[in-house]
Order: sequence, then C-alpha cells, then structure tokens
Amino acid sequence: MQITVAVKIAPIDVSNGKFLGKTNLGDGYTRWDWQVQYPINSYGVALNIGAYTQFSDRLHDLPLDFYVLPENLARARIQFAQAKPMLEIFERYFGEYPFARDGYKLIEVPYAGMEHQSAVAYGNGFANGYLARDFTGVGISLRFDFIIIHESAHEWFGNAVSAADVSDMWIHEGWATYLESLYVEQRFGKEAALKYVNGVKSRVKNEEPIITQRGIHRSPTQDMYFKGALFLNTLRSVVDDDARWEGLLRDFYQRFKYQSIMTEDVVQFFNAQLGRNFTPIFDQYLRRAALPTLELAFVEPGTLAYRWKADERDFAMPVRIGAQGEWQLIEPATAWKTMRTSLTKDDVEVATDLYYVKVTKR
Ligand SMILES: [Zn+2]
Repeated sequence: MQITVAVKIAPIDVSNGKFLGKTNLGDGYTRWDWQVQYPINSYGVALNIGAYTQFSDRLHDLPLDFYVLPENLARARIQFAQAKPMLEIFERYFGEYPFARDGYKLIEVPYAGMEHQSAVAYGNGFANGYLARDFTGVGISLRFDFIIIHESAHEWFGNAVSAADVSDMWIHEGWATYLESLYVEQRFGKEAALKYVNGVKSRVKNEEPIITQRGIHRSPTQDMYFKGALFLNTLRSVVDDDARWEGLLRDFYQRFKYQSIMTEDVVQFFNAQLGRNFTPIFDQYLRRAALPTLELAFVEPGTLAYRWKADERDFAMPVRIGAQGEWQLIEPATAWKTMRTSLTKDDVEVATDLYYVKVTKR
C-alpha cells in the first residue's frame, strides 16, 4: 500500500510502512509518502497528523521509531524502553518481527491504543497497566504497559496472521491476550504468567460462543480476548510439554504469517501436529457458550466416577486432579469412567489454573 498524505498546518504525518520522503507542494501543504511493503488489513492503516517529535533506537537491524508530543518526550523515553525487550521476547517465541522492512513505530495518539501495522498507536498515559489500572486485579498488570505489549503482540497475531472474517477474530484478540501472558512468563516467571492469565476469568461471561456467524460482519463479544487466552492456556496444559508447546506456537505462526485464515485452519494445524483429534475441544471452547464441566462423583468410599458434561458429544480432555498439590492426570470423556482413589469429596481439587473448566462434586 502506498500512503500519500498532504497536510497543511500540522508539521508531520506518520503512517504505516517505510517513510519515503516529504515534498513541499508550494501551496502551504507538505506531502508525506509512506510505503507498506507487506499485506495489510484496511483497518490497520493510520494517519497520525500532529506536531510530533521523534526519537529512535534499533533492535539488531530493525529500526524502532517513537513519535510523541514534545511535552511528553522525557516520559516517553522511559516508558517506551519497554518496547525493545517486548519485541525480543516475541521474536524469541515466534520468529522475526513480521514487518522488518517497514520498521516498528510507536506513536502517541489521543485514544488508548490500536494495532496499526508497523505504526502502533499509543495513548496509555505513559504509565503501566491499562490507563494506570490493574485491569486483571491480580497484581501483575501494573508491572508493564498493557498497550505497548498488547497492541504490539498484534503485529504477529492480527496483522501478520489475520482472520479472514470478523467472526473468527479470536485469532487476533485471544492470541494477543495469550501473548501478554507469554511476555509475563519471560519477564516475571511462569507462576506470574499463570496468575496473570487466570486473572481475566472474572471478565468472561460464557453467554455466547466466541465465534460468531460468518459472512454477516458480526463482531464477537469480549470473551474472544479473555476466554480465547484461557483456552490457549488450557490447550497448553493438554499438550503438557512446554518445549513442544513453544515449538507449536512458532510453527503455527510461521505456517500462517501474511495470510488470512479461519479457525478451521487453526484446528487442522494442531490436530495434524499433535496427531490427535482435538476438534471437539476447539468446538466446545470456541463454538459453544458454556464451559465444559468436570463432574466428580464419589459413588462409594474409595471409588470416584468422573465425566465431562459438554455440548460436544465427543468432548474428551485430560485434566489434573489431586490433593495438597499432588496431581494425577485423568482422561475423562462424556461417558462415565470410574477409578479407585484415596481422594475424597472434601479434599479433591482440580487444577483449574491449568484448565479453564467448571467442576461439580458430589
Ligand atoms: Zn487487541
């Protein structure tokens, strides 16, 4: 995409892609030319017209350019220092920043933020959290700038890997929210990341499916962010092998970068890579409103019956149960199974920080 913007009063336009140059048009206007050298979503295009001042950095060969109003320069130099380690973390997980030839830009705007491709909009007040609030409420959010991390995560998921229909936008928002937890994991450790991703549970409504009807341009509800991320955390627990999970994340991104895909592509990829049919799990979490419920029934002393109650008839997912932090893996399906156990109704726990599920005991 070639972006050409003539501005009269404001001294500068910052748009997506690579800056080609400016031309004085001689009538009071200056023309700013930008070239986007990759596929781009139309909603990812931006005109940022203002009296910006600029400072720069580099991450290996990648130019990092920061545009803020002059009065915010000092605060921005401190706050925007978070951009480089964030990019390093996402590059380590997924591979090179997707729009290397266009560079990475962070641009002050008068709204909270937006994932404009290679020209990320920033309006988070040069403070950590989301508008300086701990929006997950579990004490992790204030350790980083939500807008820098979340909107930049969209460079990988949203801008490089895009959903072909707004119905499947969890591919943008669920993944970007999950990437926040990966960032937290690298910066602050696995425990903090688990706490962070589980902190969003209170925001999930489970009232309608994350994926909406396709073809009618109907946006999903907010569940696509938080339930989407919790679903990916659940899938990771199902895979139950961090090295393998990280390999899958990277391969998934590399397989679909610069493409528009649908959830079917995601499901097919994971099924093929894992050699197992996980379609009922994807369908239950993404195409059904309700969470799967693990039903535990102590039918007689020492005997536990268990099953999944789910809308998907073939829903089957391993899950960890135990007591006092001693976990064992069981493989419930929708038909009852029984096992001998020393667990009791009072002490049995389910590892609900690893699997986003409901539990009933009787
Ligand atoms: Zn987002």
